Order: sequence, then structure tokens, then C-alpha cells
Amino acid sequence: MAKDCPRCGTICPDGTRACDCGYDFTTGALGRGTDDRYGPYRGLRGWLLLLIASLTIFGPFWYLSVSKRVAATYRAWALQA
Ligand SMILES: [Zn+2]
Repeated sequence: MAKDCPRCGTICPDGTRACDCGYDFTTGALGRGTDDRYGPYRGLRGWLLLLIASLTIFGPFWYLSVSKRVAATYRAWALQA
């Protein structure tokens, strides 16, 4: 007899211990690796990590380009005065 997953509704063949969504038929609980507590934030955390990583990598280059531009602007202003 096929099992109907109470969590996602997927019909799993008999003998299936856990559904694809992580629902465990034997314990009636969610298996490991399907912790949804941080679900809404998982993507955000990924973006934050990406942002920090890119800042670490490109930060010095960005700072150099900006400081160079600031120096050029200052020099132009100083020459004008
Ligand atoms: Zn399921």
C-alpha cells in the first residue's frame, strides 16, 4: 500500500522510509537536514556571505579606485583655487 505523505502530499511507494521532502514515515518526524527553522533566512544568509566575501575580495580594489578618484577631484579643485 502506497503511503501518502502528510507533509507534502506526495504518494510514496510502500517500503519508502522517508519522503523526498524529508518526512520520516517510520518516526513520523522530519528527518535530518530538513530543519526549516532558518528557511526564510537561509537565502539571506547566503547573500550576506556572498556580500562579505566579495567585499573582502574586491574591497581593496574598490577602495583604491575611489581614493584615486577622490585624489583626482581634490587635485583638480586645488589647481582651480
Ligand atoms: Zn513529503
